[in-house]
Amino acid sequence: MKKLLTARWILAALFLVLSGIYLVMGLSPKSFAGLIARVQIMPSMVATSIGIILFWLIITIVYGRMYCSWICPVGTLTDLVLRIRRFMPTRFHRFRYRPRRKVRFHILALYLVCVVAGIAIVPALVEPWNIFRNLTGLARPEASAVATLGAGIATGILAGIFSLLLITVCALLTGRSLCTDLCPVGTLLQLAASNALWRVEIDPDRCTACMKCEEVCPAGCVKVVGRYVDDSRCVRCMECVGRCPEEAIRFQPNRNRPATPLLRRREHTRGG
Ligand code: SF4
Ligand code: SF4
Ligand code: SF4
Repeated sequence: MKKLLTARWILAALFLVLSGIYLVMGLSPKSFAGLIARVQIMPSMVATSIGIILFWLIITIVYGRMYCSWICPVGTLTDLVLRIRRFMPTRFHRFRYRPRRKVRFHILALYLVCVVAGIAIVPALVEPWNIFRNLTGLARPEASAVATLGAGIATGILAGIFSLLLITVCALLTGRSLCTDLCPVGTLLQLAASNALWRVEIDPDRCTACMKCEEVCPAGCVKVVGRYVDDSRCVRCMECVGRCPEEAIRFQPNRNRPATPLLRRREHTRGG
């Protein structure tokens, strides 16, 4: 299972670096880095690449939110900031299970209304690909998502600082809350992933309740009491499977234990 964690980091680093090079150097969309960038969900939607959108829909239904830890540069940057969090005092850097929050649907609704109404500034600030574009705009301001709306170079730089603070503050204070509670693409992926065929599951026969998986889960979706994983919020970072000393928490085809759906229903009634 540790190999999954290593594979995830190699792929995520590749996509992060190539996407960054593509944006900072202003390469052609037909260059290798440009083609890699088009695998991202938002650029493919803008280019109406139905094939790529269908690809991610199928991958999410089968394997869950692989996009959010293996491909999305904002997810990878968040996890890099989380490495810094490990140097904080122990009681601050351990994660705990968090209930679901309805605010994610409110943000998604606001985002969709703005897209339909043509209010471009909101998507330019909250879409993950645009957050990354704004960030790389600190090195090449004219390419920032906000600057390309005609808001000017200085506003583009401010948007870059905003994106940097958004990623850093969310990661340091709450782990992956940007991905579980704020990102509209993440909320859409949650809906597709809620009944994924492959899941992260805890084997109660092997688990010694050492709490390591819950403490390293940046999405706050592991609850060792009850051996529960909220799979819709799981971003497939593989931190838990890579660190469990008993190999009790695994990424595997859904074994559909009777206890799991009951607990899942209780979570629904609690948080939405
Ligand atoms: S939830 Fe959004 S920002 Fe987070 S990794 Fe997924 S697509 Fe990227
Ligand atoms: S890390 Fe493994 S053994 Fe420890 S609580 Fe999690 S699943 Fe159980
Ligand atoms: S359950 Fe495991 S794989 Fe999923 S987000 Fe938490 S630590 Fe990452």
